[in-house]
Amino acid sequence: MRKLLLATRNQHKKRELQELLSDLEIDILTLDDIEPLPEVKEDGTTFEENAVKKACETAQNSGWLSLADDSGLEVDALQGKPGVHSARFAGEGASDEANNAKLLELLKDVPDSERTARFVCVMALCDPSGSLHTVRGECEGRIIRIPSGAGGFGYDPLFVPCGYDQTYAQLSAWAKNNISHRGAALQKILPVLKNYLTDTQTRG
Ligand code: IMP
Repeated sequence: MRKLLLATRNQHKKRELQELLSDLEIDILTLDDIEPLPEVKEDGTTFEENAVKKACETAQNSGWLSLADDSGLEVDALQGKPGVHSARFAGEGASDEANNAKLLELLKDVPDSERTARFVCVMALCDPSGSLHTVRGECEGRIIRIPSGAGGFGYDPLFVPCGYDQTYAQLSAWAKNNISHRGAALQKILPVLKNYLTDTQTRG
């Protein structure tokens, strides 16, 4: 069976991507399943830069077709922050709770009508020869004042997607995947991925 390496160690992203890819005849590996590769430094200033860097370095170092996801939350009242710094908004290695608390503190005086935000996910698919595809998925919504829900990860308990009255963390995994930034990006990259699985000679 063809193999795809997911260029992430984030267990939550891994689980969501595995669910989203579950219909494909494909053997999905993650960085935790192979011998250690050099760490990729996520020092880009855009989601695109980081996703491309992760996918390309991982494909080169491993010899596998590699899929990377760089994602985060853009809050309009904070001029797009935390953006590419979403994972470490409250400091290097910060917990989800600390990041959420910092976001709520910064937004405490922002009225409901101005708490608009979006999740962004850029996916990059790179093969070992350097052939590269990138796509972007977004999900518009708003930031509420009190964390709600126990599912998901990251900022999920604070984010209510447009047209919903529940947070990402209150939706089922299926419902979140159906409307999420990650689901949207994956739907766009799927045809490219399917082409690879049928047409091209990649390792595996
Ligand atoms: P990355 O690993 O550099 O792409 O950082 C992703 C960070 O963005 C995560 O650690 C979360 O803080 C946030 N994030 C990305 N996707 C989601 C999501 O689906 N739900 C909640 N937070 C997310």
